[in-house]
Amino acid sequence: ENLTKEDVLKLARDNDVQFVRLQFTDIFGVLKNVAITVKQLEKALDGELMFDGSSIEGFVRIEESDMYLKPDPSTFVIFPWRPQEGAVARLICDVYNPDGTPFSGCPRCTLKRVVAEAEELGYSVNVGPEAEFFLFMVDERGLPTTITHDKAGYFDLTPVDLGENARRDMVIALQDIGFEVEASHHEVAPGQHEIDFKYDDALTTADKIATFKFVVRTIAQRHGLHATFMPKPIFGIPGSGMHTHVSLFQGNENVFFDANDKRELSETAYHFIGGLLKHARSFCAITNPTINSYKRLVSGFEAPVYVAWSEKNRSPLLRIPARRGVGTRVEVRNPDPAANPYLALAVIIKAGIDGIKNKIMPPEPTDKNIYDLDAKERNELGIDNLPADLIEAVQELQGSKVVREALGEHLYKRFVDAKIMEWDKYRSQVHDWELQEYLTKF
Ligand code: GLN
Ligand code: MG
Ligand code: MG
Ligand code: MG
Repeated sequence: ENLTKEDVLKLARDNDVQFVRLQFTDIFGVLKNVAITVKQLEKALDGELMFDGSSIEGFVRIEESDMYLKPDPSTFVIFPWRPQEGAVARLICDVYNPDGTPFSGCPRCTLKRVVAEAEELGYSVNVGPEAEFFLFMVDERGLPTTITHDKAGYFDLTPVDLGENARRDMVIALQDIGFEVEASHHEVAPGQHEIDFKYDDALTTADKIATFKFVVRTIAQRHGLHATFMPKPIFGIPGSGMHTHVSLFQGNENVFFDANDKRELSETAYHFIGGLLKHARSFCAITNPTINSYKRLVSGFEAPVYVAWSEKNRSPLLRIPARRGVGTRVEVRNPDPAANPYLALAVIIKAGIDGIKNKIMPPEPTDKNIYDLDAKERNELGIDNLPADLIEAVQELQGSKVVREALGEHLYKRFVDAKIMEWDKYRSQVHDWELQEYLTKF
């Protein structure tokens, strides 16, 4: 909904808002905020509130540290879990330089730039995510464990599904702040859940994903549980993905649909798919940004391992759900919920529109279970692997002009540097697995 500055000031007055949290995400997708009193709200809405950007990871150096937060009035919501008196609200912000230009390290500005590129070609981009998460018990000291709160499975009901109450409260809170929740259910793994909300334009959806994670974690905490979006918290059971459904529109028309094609997909849809397949290995570092992300991308848990597309099978990277007409879309299955939502959508959209610009045709779809094919068979079908670990993903990113362009130089450099450091820290550690495997053997 399009709120103006005046609307926001009025809403704040009418609802007795006392504090407003100005929110933005750092390049790693961590939500940050600074609380202001309602007296400062007008100044904030005019983009006059400055903060020191040097302490935000991946932002800037000390000597260029002044940044401005520019709130987007249409993101104004009053938190439903605070008392009516002295309510707390939030605004999502873009980060600006002192000279009034968008800061090149601002993920939200980055997504806006890529969306504008799609708009120049005449397309608006719609995105709908399916974010999965685990609910874990906390110990006596309130610290999270990896003990799941239940032993239920896919679509189970109470009394096995102890998370149902927490999940219901999450849905209610999300609805209170304007989400249209379409489905919520227990996922395959014990303690694992999914809540799906209706698709929206790319920027709104990225804002909603950031908000979603924060709401889920807040409500879980109120139920004495710890919610985590870590991609693979437990070995041997499914990890948490964030399947991302993307479609392109021109006005009210879904341009991925073409009734005359044998699969009822348009040329534009094929090209978009072609672009996604071409750049998938390079955008993984963004859509699957942690060491742990790659422990999810292994065979056998409905997470993709190979660069392929399909109309039926759930093992490939891309699936084309059966819906046609306005519902025609591509489901990108590799992203996980640890990704920065703004950057993840930016690189996915960029890859797809690069496919359109360069008319990249995808190979034939693979309607077999790729998990069952051996390396030779995959090779014959031209099916590549996704990166096996974070460092391979970062190296792929380094070789990609297109993904680098989507991120912009500043963000690209900070991101790559940080991820190489993360990898170096990890690879020099001695892990439990190594001790179990080698300590007595050698
Ligand atoms: N958890 C699976 C993943 O990692 C997805 C399971 C599903 O939604 N069918 O992507
Ligand atoms: Mg789902
Ligand atoms: Mg799911
Ligand atoms: Mg799905």
